[in-house]
Amino acid sequence: MNYKRSSLLFVEAEKVIPGGVNSPVRAFKAVGGTPIFVKEAKGAYLYDEDDNRLIDYINSWGPMILGHAYDPVVNAVVDKAKKGTSFGMPTEIETKIAELAVSMVPNIDKIRFVNSGTEACMSAVRLARGFTGKDKIIKFAGCYHGHSDSFLIQAGSGAITFGTPNSPGVTEGTAKDTLLARYNDIENVTQLIEANKGEIACIIIEPVAGNMGCIPPKGDFLKTLRTLCDTHSILLIFDEVMTGFRLAKGGAQELFGIDADIVCFGKVIGGGLPVGAFAARNEIMNYLAPLGPVYQAGTLSGNPLAMAAGLAMLNELNNDVEIFNRLAEKTEYLHKGIAKVLNDNNIVYTVNRVGSMISVHFDDSEVIDFETSAKGNNDTFKKFFHGMLNEGVYIAPSAFETWFITDALTYKDLDFTIAAVNTVAKTL
Ligand code: PMP
Repeated sequence: MNYKRSSLLFVEAEKVIPGGVNSPVRAFKAVGGTPIFVKEAKGAYLYDEDDNRLIDYINSWGPMILGHAYDPVVNAVVDKAKKGTSFGMPTEIETKIAELAVSMVPNIDKIRFVNSGTEACMSAVRLARGFTGKDKIIKFAGCYHGHSDSFLIQAGSGAITFGTPNSPGVTEGTAKDTLLARYNDIENVTQLIEANKGEIACIIIEPVAGNMGCIPPKGDFLKTLRTLCDTHSILLIFDEVMTGFRLAKGGAQELFGIDADIVCFGKVIGGGLPVGAFAARNEIMNYLAPLGPVYQAGTLSGNPLAMAAGLAMLNELNNDVEIFNRLAEKTEYLHKGIAKVLNDNNIVYTVNRVGSMISVHFDDSEVIDFETSAKGNNDTFKKFFHGMLNEGVYIAPSAFETWFITDALTYKDLDFTIAAVNTVAKTL
């Protein structure tokens, strides 16, 4: 494939945008080479500035669960835009999407909309601190909850890729209140709670980790976390920015049958526009301004275009009873196909999958936490990534990211992808 125009556009971008990108993982630093500039996308396909067609397994890092430029979402946004793009005043559509979200997700009474997953997680933690009157939080190494200061402690996603899981600029004062636990290690969490008795406001977790590759919670891990939180008056925050409206209508809470105290959303809930949200039962949400003392606000929060996209998206997901099964079946098919061809080619690998989240690791030990994820062979991953790209398949440009399966993918696309893996495996 030829990426001439993308390369030229990147040179221009680098002159005026740090690293040429507005979010680090887009820069291809983990895999080398020049990022691809997208011209447009439809369904399961991206079309780049050199007119290459790529099957997309990133899907804007999650939101495009029904495929790109999905008609009901696009039409809703276009219709709204003609009536004004922002008012900073209440609109009826905000209540409509809130009602729908509350009806789809277990255990939430109220939801507040913000503009990104980062904002949602940052606000959820502030609310948890305000509500409990405690300062410390527990997060898990390799989990990513956005780029607000408290979370850039052994953070996943681009923070690992760029070697700055602990970013300069985060003060020691902030960092000391973030306690770090190992994913899937309940002993470790128990020790942290014991050593910080009465000081922990919340535990924040990706109920299925997606920012160190895809890592499922093992056995009773989430259930035991719930019990520990109840015993020690700690709020359990599920960061469902990736898993929300993706793994089930009610996200990971529904899939695993576990209630969190606060739930964070992003990605799918905005249908591809900049949206995040956090939600909880009345007792907690009523602690937020203007009802309560915890402050949180946003000029563009509840923006009509964003709400129109989100509402159209949630309506589609709510009305399609088979969608989440269909996505899981497609992902399982892909998993089996990839496993077969990697086995046939004697490649050492582990594939992790939950619902429509999947990742390929080039190591044969079980991938259960940040340490085991980091053991994957990055040189093999780089070759794999570029090989797949050359075959017309766009996967995440880092081994620490999850692939997101969209319903727009046909079985023909999946077969094409498996054949591409077979071709590339011979070169690894
Ligand atoms: N939480 C999780 C689990 C995420 O995956 C992400 C983004 N990938 C975020 C929070 C931050 O969301 P945003 O990039 O919209 O700020």
